[in-house]
Amino acid sequence: MLLEVRDLHVEFRTRDGIAKAVGGVSYGVDAGETLAVLGESGSGKSVTAQAVMGILDMPPGRITGGEILFQGQDLLRLKEEERRRIRGAQMAMIFQDALSSLNPVLSVGDQLGEMFVVHRGMSKKDARAKAVDLMDRVRIPAAAQRVRDYPHQFSGGMRQRIMIAMALALEPALIIADEPTTALDVTVQAQVMDLLAELQREYRMGLVLITHDLGVVADVADRIAVMYAGRIVESAPVHDIYKAPAHPYTRGLLDSIPRLDRKGKELYAIKGLPPNLMNIPPGCAFHPRCPMAQDVCRTDVPPLYEVSDDRVSACHFWRECLHG
Ligand code: SF4
Ligand code: MG
Repeated sequence: MLLEVRDLHVEFRTRDGIAKAVGGVSYGVDAGETLAVLGESGSGKSVTAQAVMGILDMPPGRITGGEILFQGQDLLRLKEEERRRIRGAQMAMIFQDALSSLNPVLSVGDQLGEMFVVHRGMSKKDARAKAVDLMDRVRIPAAAQRVRDYPHQFSGGMRQRIMIAMALALEPALIIADEPTTALDVTVQAQVMDLLAELQREYRMGLVLITHDLGVVADVADRIAVMYAGRIVESAPVHDIYKAPAHPYTRGLLDSIPRLDRKGKELYAIKGLPPNLMNIPPGCAFHPRCPMAQDVCRTDVPPLYEVSDDRVSACHFWRECLHG
């Protein structure tokens, strides 16, 4: 495994108490593989990624347990500078909002080039050539001219391509993309997602793709891990999930994707809201919203049941869900 998160726990200290943002999450991604991590906001998907990237090492967020193995080494047990070296060279992150992640007063060529000057010791001239190269790779038209432009001179989709170019620059083994297309129009979303998937295959990187939208991952993900209230509730190969979900929450997410064959029909929406992380419901955290809930769900926390070799579900009634 390239990246393996094992039983990760993260807490946030707030004025009102302790929020359990991540309550024992395990997932893994191999080189050349894409894992989609799916869930509503507050499900812990971004916090888990931030823990992996080491941008959570500050209060109020605190890792209270677990391991984060990268190429077999537990990042949480390494010295700070060693961790920083691995993360700097081997991992990159793409965020939703390129405009606030890019430096507004540097041309994109200077920002891309800086990566090569700082990390590869290149001359400014060579770094500039590499920057143009990268902009070509992410298919920015007229890259040789546009390399002098500033972030605000690009459209949202083009800026997101520049973010991808920044992430690719040092050819990391792992990229984590947190809602990389959420801010874009639907057509542009698909183009950027396709580009990301194509480059991921070409560079044989591991990709962790965080999204709240099950509709955008169908064609790009190998596996899906669905999170709810800080835990994984289902994890499976993408095709299995689309064929038949083994968790009612996954089913709800699937049924709320707009689909052509159901045009005109009202879109399903999972009723209710995600729980307050300071007061997670007892038993199955999803029970107040679950159309299949029984008495046992209100008292007994479902373990991760093994549905098959490569599939788990945290539902007492996963069989009924799968065949229902
Ligand atoms: Fe629904 Fe019960 Fe399954 Fe939770 S354990 S998802 S409440 S059926
Ligand atoms: Mg988020």
